[in-house]
Amino acid sequence: MKKHNYSAGPCILPQEVFEKSAQAILDFNGSGLSILEISHRSKDFIAVMDEARALVLELLGLTGKGYQALFLSSGASMEFLMVPYNLMKENGKAAYLDTGTWANNAIKEAKLFGQTEVVASSKDANYNFIPKDYTILADADYFHCTSNNTIFGTQMKSFPKTGIPMVCDMSSDIFSRVLDFSQFDLIYAGAQKNMGPAGTTLVVVKEEILGHTGRTIPSILDYQKHIKADSMYNTPPVFPVYASLLTLQWIKNNGGIAAMEKINNAKAELLYNEIDRNPLFRGTAQVEDRSAMNATFLLNDESKAAEFDQMWKAAGISGIAGHRSVGGYRASMYNALPLESVQVLVEVMRAFEQKA
Ligand SMILES: *Cc1c(COP(=O)(O)O)cnc(C)c1O
Repeated sequence: MKKHNYSAGPCILPQEVFEKSAQAILDFNGSGLSILEISHRSKDFIAVMDEARALVLELLGLTGKGYQALFLSSGASMEFLMVPYNLMKENGKAAYLDTGTWANNAIKEAKLFGQTEVVASSKDANYNFIPKDYTILADADYFHCTSNNTIFGTQMKSFPKTGIPMVCDMSSDIFSRVLDFSQFDLIYAGAQKNMGPAGTTLVVVKEEILGHTGRTIPSILDYQKHIKADSMYNTPPVFPVYASLLTLQWIKNNGGIAAMEKINNAKAELLYNEIDRNPLFRGTAQVEDRSAMNATFLLNDESKAAEFDQMWKAAGISGIAGHRSVGGYRASMYNALPLESVQVLVEVMRAFEQKA
């Protein structure tokens, strides 16, 4: 039986993405070849890459606005260093907002390149909120933030007006809600949280911000080289890019980001209402900063954990054990998780209350 998959990433993808990917592994587009054995330089795969890159910009509303979409390898963690390499001037500086483990990892890498100012941090509160009052150095080369904090269950609901290039790690909420994406100059996202299987990272960058650092950048880490090569500077992750394209098509065919947002809000409301209503549970993130993607919550009485765990497992739920830095539970409700899965979880929480 198909599980209700709340995994934080890699995570649930649309059923049709699983089916079409499986088909393409056996026979890609009736070519008599598997997607796993074709050349990345083949006409068929170039078409996949071109369509995926164009569809990203279309869904984000960035077509014709000077942006390029790239599908790179090595994960979002590689962007933690590619961003300063490509944007921080020699002897320059950057400003970072510290809202969680991933933001912190990005800061650590930036420090290897130059002066890295942390404009605000919620670390002392175990990252249970998003800092809102801070000033960003007007002479920083860029400002970096993390739109959704996958581990701590918080999400930025608004973004500062910076006057300098704004970089955002959107690994865990890209394509999940409507934003003015043109306020960002560089967006990156590991595919495995909302877009595809692990193995590719999406980078969307406004071309005009590149090429101003005075640094010599190794080719593989140079966004301009990847743009020039149409995202095929080296062998791209062929299969993850194909599966990501299928997800992007699914998003488009189901009404685009606006339609995703509507369902995501309904799912989040249903679960958070139950967390707040049910006397056995409490949420960990401050209410106004709660993430619609990753809901983190605790049992008020930890000694009942074994009983609750047994109940959700019996209901076919998978992947809601919390991250070790927060404990308790984390329900990740990415685009492909159906509303019915949240209904099942809420029913289990109610049944658990009845038993207690
Ligand atoms: C998972 C995650 C990352 C790290 O992604 P990798 O692809 O494993 O390097 C970075 N940022 C955020 C917000 C994440 O959720």
